[in-house]
Order: sequence, then C-alpha cells, then structure tokens
Amino acid sequence: MGDAVLVLNAGSSSIKFALFAMTLPLRRLWHGEIEEIGRAPRVRAWDAAEELLPEQLWAGNTHEDFLAQLLQWTQAHLQGDALAAVGHRIVHGGADFTAPTKLDAQTIAALDRLSPLAPLHQPHNLNAVRALAKLRPGVPQIGCFDTAFHASMDATTRRFALPRALENEGIRRYGFHGLSYEFIAGRLRQIAPAHADGRIIVAHLGNGASLCALKNGRSVDTTMGLTALDGLVMGTRCGALDPGVLLYLMQQYGMAAPALEDLLYHQSGLLGVSGLSGDMRALLAAGDRAAEEAIELFVFHVAREIGALAASLGGLDGLVFTAGIGENSAEIRRRVALRCAWLGVELAEAPNNAGAGLISAPDSRVSTWVIATDEEAMIARHTIAAIL
Ligand code: ADP
Repeated sequence: MGDAVLVLNAGSSSIKFALFAMTLPLRRLWHGEIEEIGRAPRVRAWDAAEELLPEQLWAGNTHEDFLAQLLQWTQAHLQGDALAAVGHRIVHGGADFTAPTKLDAQTIAALDRLSPLAPLHQPHNLNAVRALAKLRPGVPQIGCFDTAFHASMDATTRRFALPRALENEGIRRYGFHGLSYEFIAGRLRQIAPAHADGRIIVAHLGNGASLCALKNGRSVDTTMGLTALDGLVMGTRCGALDPGVLLYLMQQYGMAAPALEDLLYHQSGLLGVSGLSGDMRALLAAGDRAAEEAIELFVFHVAREIGALAASLGGLDGLVFTAGIGENSAEIRRRVALRCAWLGVELAEAPNNAGAGLISAPDSRVSTWVIATDEEAMIARHTIAAIL
C-alpha cells in the first residue's frame, strides 16, 4: 500500500479523521468521526467507496483514549507500512503562521497563545497535537491553518479602525475557512480554467459560514475577522454585530466575558433567532414563522456581504457555493441568487436543483457553481509537501 498520512480535525467533543495513501493523485483510504467524546462516544468510518464500515467498538472517556485506538486501527490497516506524518487542522495561525508548519513544543506554545482568539476550536486542536506527540513521538506532525490562505489580504483590508498600538499587538482581521477556500481555488482552476483568475466570491456556508473574495486565485477579502464570530449569521454564532451591543450588555445586564462568549458563540445565529435550531435543514423543514425569519436573515446577510465583497473585487465574474448548506440546499442558493440578481447572478433551475458543477443560466453574467469542498485533502497535500 505504501506510506500514509493521517489527517485530524479535533473539536471539543469530536475528532474527524481521514487516512490518505501517499500516492499521486492522492488517495483517501478511509475517513470517519469520533463523536460525543465524554458523553456517549460513537465511532463511524467509511471506506474509499464511501461504504460505512462496521461500527468500531472503542472505549474511553478522553480524546487521548480515542486517538490511541485510532492509531492502533491505522497501524493494523497499514499492514506494516508506515504512518509518515499526521496533519492537523489548526484554526488560528495568527500573524506568524502563514504556511503549514512542523508542530513541536515551541510552535505549540506559540499557537496556544492564540487560543483566546478561537476558544471553540484552538485548544482542542492543540490538545490532539500534544496527545499524538505523547503516543507517537517519532511521527512528524504538521499544522495547517485556517487563517493562512488570507495572508494575501492587503493592509487596508486587514486593518480595524482602532489605535495603531492595538494593531501592532496583532488585533486585526485574519479570516478563516482558508483550507476550504484554497481547495476551491484549486478545483476551480481545474474545472473552469478561464475563470480561475477572475473576480470570484466563494460562499462557504456550513455551521460556520463565511465568504471569500478571490482574485487570481488568491484571497483579497473575507467576512471573518480576528475571530470566527464576524461576518455572516451562523448556526449558533451571531456574525457581525454593532460593538455597542456588547457595551450595552456589559453595562446594563452586568454580563462578563464568559457569559458574552456563550451568548455570541453558542446561543445566537440561526438558533438564537429561530429559538428552535441552529441546523439549516431542520429550519427549512420546520415551516414555522420564527424559523423562516432566521432563514431570511441568514440569506439577507449572505447577499449583503456578497455585495460588499463584489465592491472589494471591483465587480464579480463568478460565485461558488460550498460546505453543508452551500452544497446541499438548492432553496438557499435560489434565495441568495435572487437577492444578487442586480450583480448579474441568474441560476438555471434544473442544474441548481441537481446541485453540482455549473448551476447558472447560460446568459448569466456571473457564472455560478456548486463545488464540494475537501479540507481534509488540502491538509493531506500540505502535510505530504511539508515532509518530503
Ligand atoms: P461544519 O461547519 O460543522 O463543517 P457543515 O459544512 O457540515 O458544517 O454544514 C452543516 C450545515 O449544513 C447544517 O446547518 C445542516 O443543516 C446544513 N445542511 C446539510 N444538508 C442540508 C440540506 N440538504 N439542506 C439544507 N441544509 C443542509
């Protein structure tokens, strides 16, 4: 089989994993997810043909318990071939980590200092790196950063209108979902080379949601900022908010940072507005007024920010929908496109309902696609490049 790389995306109660053979082209051997760690853990994995493998009966309470079993399982599958490296999704690379980086005690400590900027993800990403270092000290670990792809944004785009001293401390816009955008930029070059250097907006619409403006395949603007709270309405995150709201909540409601963090990251967005769910599929099926208002607010902000990024690009040639909502919901794509008709976006109904590849009408000024993202493949490619 040859050597392989393991890709990990570790969250607070889950670990997504994928094993890739180091072949050209890259080959995914299997992928899966350990969910509900610490509560009622469950492991599911799929083979290369997307067939669900028999449920794995792994036991344990901690991330480390499950990573140990994942490594044993990996080793058994490799039948004597080596695990050449582990690639990690690390959400925040800050100003210093703008390319995939070997993770050692020093880099882990530097990345840990960024944890307050991504409290939902960064600490869990790094705990998995530390656990792996203990379990397999000889295997190189490579960090791939969600912020890195946006390092090409210019100084004006990166800047908040705050005193310079704060900018010098690193308080500026970084942007996220970069591994997804990098994958889409590469894929677009394959499927529509004539557009790859054009003015493109990619809409990564999942539980976390953001937009990226691409020019010549590089990020020139994005909707997220210092943290992954900014920009669009998300499953449970508020998106862009008048900062005066925070002052008001602190002054009038006596809310301190932990309560605000919970409100903004976990209780807001689609969940907060609908009072029902942060899951778009559930809201579309609900047929309830508050659910509909939450959906409309989501669509409104996607369309409004598409307008803003079109201004950053000086026009719009292409639009790409990706991630859970972007790839699977013809209804959300239809509603966003209607609000963007003034920019020249016009969908063709049947391709939009089919939901893959080119979905715009033949005479639409803006070519529009659905492209499935693959952050794991992007991490695997970076990891292999970093160890060769
Ligand atoms: P994450 O940011 O956690 O990776 P995903 O990219 O998996 O999230 O996206 C999850 C979102 O996609 C959820 O809101 C889910 O309801 C939505 N979604 C998945 N399939 C559909 C569908 N068929 N119709 C509408 N929304 C969908």
